Amino acid sequence: MMAAEAYPSYPPELSQTQLSYLLQNLMDYSLSHGLAVRPAESFISKELSSNGALATHAPVTLFPSPFSRSCLEEGRAVQKDYNELYARVSGNEEWLEKIIVELSEVDDFMARLYKVHLDVKAEGFVQPLSLGLFRSDYMIHNPAEDPNALPVIHQVEFNTISSSFGALSTRVSELHRHLARMGAYPSDSIIKTENIPVSPALPELAKGLAVAHKAYGSGGEGRSTAILIIIQPGEKNIFDQRWLEYELLERHSVQTYRISLPDVPKLTKLASGTRALIYSPPQAPNTQIEVSTVYFRAGYGPEDYAGEDDWAARTTLERSKAIKCPSVITQLAGAKKIQQVLAVDGAVEEFLADRNVSSRVRGTFAAIHPLDQSPAGMAARKLALEKPDTYVLKPQREGGGNNIYRGDIPGFLKSIPESHWSGYILMELIQPPALENTIIRNGGLMSGGVVGELGVYGAILWKDGEGEERGKGLKEIVMNSEAGWLLRTKGRQSNEGGVAAGFGSVDAVLLV
Ligand code: ADP
Ligand code: MG
Ligand code: MG
Repeated sequence: MMAAEAYPSYPPELSQTQLSYLLQNLMDYSLSHGLAVRPAESFISKELSSNGALATHAPVTLFPSPFSRSCLEEGRAVQKDYNELYARVSGNEEWLEKIIVELSEVDDFMARLYKVHLDVKAEGFVQPLSLGLFRSDYMIHNPAEDPNALPVIHQVEFNTISSSFGALSTRVSELHRHLARMGAYPSDSIIKTENIPVSPALPELAKGLAVAHKAYGSGGEGRSTAILIIIQPGEKNIFDQRWLEYELLERHSVQTYRISLPDVPKLTKLASGTRALIYSPPQAPNTQIEVSTVYFRAGYGPEDYAGEDDWAARTTLERSKAIKCPSVITQLAGAKKIQQVLAVDGAVEEFLADRNVSSRVRGTFAAIHPLDQSPAGMAARKLALEKPDTYVLKPQREGGGNNIYRGDIPGFLKSIPESHWSGYILMELIQPPALENTIIRNGGLMSGGVVGELGVYGAILWKDGEGEERGKGLKEIVMNSEAGWLLRTKGRQSNEGGVAAGFGSVDAVLLV
């Protein structure tokens, strides 16, 4: 069982006066430094929510959470290998095809995405470069059997599209350092700036985008170039995105524009012949900007596609000469089914030939089972129905709130056609150490047991084969880097850790 007190005297106790002092400083620092989100509609009047005049501090923890130094180091050390693995998976369509075709039979969203890819493939791709801004998510797994064993990280999932919170993770580590430095935490506590490293996610992710932008080259016919960010209308986590834009403009002199999928047909067109993606900003309709890179912060789930027009928009972007972050095939490579297949013996080794590398990657895997009609799948079906208590069931979806837990699994499976079970994977629940902290959201406090989830970002730019060679293996890795980390902390009771979904918070690591 879980040690209910992994760090028994943590967090430090505060008097009422100390708490108010800490809170005031936390909120003021957050708002002064853009560690912020737009407030939920339920929180403010309709008028104020529509004109974007208000922000609130991002949901954060009052204290940085204790986190094993060796676990952070391990996650960071393996990130470039993960980047390469998923880039190589994306580039190997023979390997992907069988899995995605089977998935497509039971999952309309996967099928639709795959159709976009195949349509563009039939016509031929005009851009060999792809950008991945990935995030590999982990929980610490405490091996219960051996109390002296070092804690290790187990992977929750690998995100290949719209990996968010990079900028806020940089800002929250700066917040906790500031609070430590200014004396808002008791001086005899273990919270010291030297134990709270700043996550470089914001500068590193921006650098990744800037490298892609530069690699695209100059625009045709004297056009200037820019990055186009595909956004969800009404995005609440906007400042996380804005920081990337400010960083790109101020440090890299790269212009960015924001546009939603429904606006793509109105504001963009493809140049005939080259298929350069030309964007005309509404505020300067006679200007023609050539898009170097399309950065998706939307489009990861079916809710982002209201109808055929939005699918046509995604297809236009995919057909274009712009570098995609990510391409459709890379988005598909991030499916949870792919994660499960990679966990099968020998699969990672097909992509990462160096045994030291593949075994380091494999060392972070948790047990994941298929629910198809293979022998392994049939055995897992039995587990899911009869012994579900240590499992989570996952569909091929992103963004939080989609999983089914423990005792809910059998009833859920029985409520859907058995022919659809293969669209899910069954994963062992990781048992992270029990910690205590306080989450502050819209000024309200929630104290108690929490669990943390570490995300490690990666940036990779690679070149696929051209013409007939497309999809037959990655040709060249142009850039590959680890790009900082994120710690999200949620209440122990809530199954899902989504910060945006209203359960979790952003946190900083306190190295122990
Ligand atoms: P999504 O793509 O929707 O974010 P995840 O696989 O990250 O899907 O699952 C959502 C959340 O569910 C995670 O943030 C984590 O809190 C919880 N979760 C997922 N898998 C596991 C697991 N194997 N063990 C414990 N918790 C998990
Ligand atoms: Mg995800
Ligand atoms: Mg997740």
